[in-house]
Amino acid sequence: MDTRLKYKQHIARAASKGLEAALELTRLRGLPTATARQLFSATVAPIVDYASNIWMHAYRYRNTAPINRVQRIGAQAIVGTFLTVATSIAEIEASIPTALERFWKRAIKLWVDIHTLPKTNPLHRITSRVRKFYRSYRSPFHQVAYRLKDMPLEELESIQPFALKPWEKRVQAFNYENATKQPEAEWDIRVAVSSSACNDVVGIGGVVRGTPFIDGDATSEEFSFTLGLRTEQNPYSGELAAMSHALNLLPNVSHRRIALLTTNKAVALSLRNPRQQSGQVYIRSIYKSFAKLWRNGNGLLVFWVPSSDENELLQLAKREARQATKEGATPTKRFPRMQSTTLNLEKKKLTSERHFPDGVGKHSKRVDAALPGQHTRQLYDNRPWIERNVLAQMRTDRTRLNNSMYRIHAATSRQCACGHEPETVAHFLFRCTQWEQHRTKMHQCTETNRGNLSFFLGGKSPLDGPDWQPNLKAVQATISFALATGRLENKQHI
Ligand SMILES: [Zn+2]
Repeated sequence: MDTRLKYKQHIARAASKGLEAALELTRLRGLPTATARQLFSATVAPIVDYASNIWMHAYRYRNTAPINRVQRIGAQAIVGTFLTVATSIAEIEASIPTALERFWKRAIKLWVDIHTLPKTNPLHRITSRVRKFYRSYRSPFHQVAYRLKDMPLEELESIQPFALKPWEKRVQAFNYENATKQPEAEWDIRVAVSSSACNDVVGIGGVVRGTPFIDGDATSEEFSFTLGLRTEQNPYSGELAAMSHALNLLPNVSHRRIALLTTNKAVALSLRNPRQQSGQVYIRSIYKSFAKLWRNGNGLLVFWVPSSDENELLQLAKREARQATKEGATPTKRFPRMQSTTLNLEKKKLTSERHFPDGVGKHSKRVDAALPGQHTRQLYDNRPWIERNVLAQMRTDRTRLNNSMYRIHAATSRQCACGHEPETVAHFLFRCTQWEQHRTKMHQCTETNRGNLSFFLGGKSPLDGPDWQPNLKAVQATISFALATGRLENKQHI
């Protein structure tokens, strides 16, 4: 690493690479909104965020400018906001996370990943030291450790780089409907597992049915127990835990054909090809049982059954699992906390902290009290670019109207050509005498809300109740009006 490399330069370099990618995106004008948003997070964001863990602590004050520019260009490619719109407003309109939120997501992932390292990893031992807070010297990582200090990390599972040695045998997994037309009775032993997440706990259930088990009669054994809290476990880890438990119930059988049934495709896939992933502790335990069964000459297949409705065993397993998540159910034994669940909880917390920043976007706040919200997607998605652009102009008050142009010294006066008052968005939409003939459709939308800027721009006004939904018909009428006047269009974009 270049020791003279300053964080500021480093951030600028990350931004300039991101800028290139963002400009590529703006060239693809015809893209649907959702696709553009996805492309932004798939092609631009990773370039900017690369190694952000190292420099994110220096991303503040003036250093934010180059990356903010990338964000604004991204927002322009997605919904058509102008580059003069404040970054945070553009991000909210385009419904993309802020750069800082993305950096924190990465930091959280790193923090959790470090704590799932196996004991043999040299970094495993230093995590306890990172978490001690030195007063004299605070590393950049201190910020991350401090912010996440309340995150529960005890009992976190440890994840090996490889679940199995490369030469170890893997189990085969199939889609039940495509793979086998054999009647179920042809299997000597069938194992069905299920999990349920309800009442803040994850419960598991399963059934093992054999013909006959060891020597005696045909046997069927069912089990069900509460695996853990929903904040520690998930339905996927539940199914794996159930599978592991069910295999332990199998007596010492040999030369049998055994079918393992699950409704969770992810479970079947990760059993077929275990990787460095959450839930590995259960997968390893399952493979231990597999190895023993294979040694005794048993044949094993995993089946993924898309719907449990027609399968009696899976239905039984599901019922058992639900039993374990009845109200008041509590886990009795402690299982390792899942990395994926811990991570998701923390990411959700981060997303819930989104807020409208102070000191910017007076117009946006007035027009739409529901910002930041998911409804902006409804407003912009599935519209041609020119319509998005026109709507974004009016919602952000960065328009081609004189009031806006005067602010950036692109017009000599705020006054509208009609001569009555400054050409603001409200004047343009409701009062300007030049466009009276185009307003019919807007008038048809409402009797009571005439002149209500929020209503016509798909925003929530302070008077709207909690059940408010944007009136998309009114938004469409507004856009059609704006396009009919031709006042907001730039011939370059057509
Ligand atoms: Zn006018």
